Amino acid sequence: MLKGRTALVTGSTSGIGLGIASTLARQGANLMLNGFGDVEGALAQVRAHGGAVRYHGADMSRPAEIEDLIRSCEREFGALDILVNNAGIQHVANVEDFPPERWDAIVAINLSSAFHAMRMALPGMKRRGWGRIVNIASTHGLVASAGKSAYVAAKHGIVGLTKAAALENASGGVTVNAICPGWVLTPLVQQQVDARAARDGVDDEEAKRRLLADKQPSLRFTTPEQIAELAVFLCSPAADNVLGVAWNVDGGWTAQ
Ligand code: NAD
Repeated sequence: MLKGRTALVTGSTSGIGLGIASTLARQGANLMLNGFGDVEGALAQVRAHGGAVRYHGADMSRPAEIEDLIRSCEREFGALDILVNNAGIQHVANVEDFPPERWDAIVAINLSSAFHAMRMALPGMKRRGWGRIVNIASTHGLVASAGKSAYVAAKHGIVGLTKAAALENASGGVTVNAICPGWVLTPLVQQQVDARAARDGVDDEEAKRRLLADKQPSLRFTTPEQIAELAVFLCSPAADNVLGVAWNVDGGWTAQ
């Protein structure tokens, strides 16, 4: 379905981003990967689906590197058609204990990076009359949890950014939407499972059960592949008129 399209997924060396990149590649898209850690493993996983796959190591907290990333997509593939703003980090502490440099990093990576990538990608998409922007927000873009002020502020911000950009582009061929996952078992969440296990003095399995029981009535993690299938839908012709949504995939978290 996406043959001939080029997609950039930020933070695609792990977790949800890697799942989305693999699924878009399976649909025929060319992929630009980004992120830190096991780059070779991510490249191998996405290349297994065919299509051209490249990597750019931009630090998404740095606007100049984001610009180089977007320009590299346009130069190396001829266009950037699908932008998935996914890179993200977490830090848990109450406001009065929150390290200011962690606040700045979360806002830069989880929110401002999407603004910079969008402002640089949109002119080309508008010129070509087609584009899809999918922002990976969170249930924390819709509701809050204690201890996550920076993350909640950044995720509410990206939901607002999504709506504003969707309206600005409503009558062109570019759509902008957000996905709001609840718990997905990735390295970002495993850190919180580990913290819960240490705090409660329980094993990994029990810590996962407690984490889910607090928020997610299904008591199941969503998989990165399930998030990725929604991203593919938002890139499909069936979603041409879906604009500015913040679509939760959260096992009932925000229905409560
Ligand atoms: P993850 O830790 O598995 O992956 C994060 C990715 O972002 C990695 O590829 C990492 O290298 C990259 N990254 C981090 N800092 C970066 C930087 N400065 N520049 C470039 N890349 C950087 O986490 P994940 O759970 O897959 O999270 C992906 C997105 O999904 C995040 O925006 C997160 O907030 C969101 N999300 C996750 C969950 C969940 O339960 N896992 C729920 C809701 C939303």
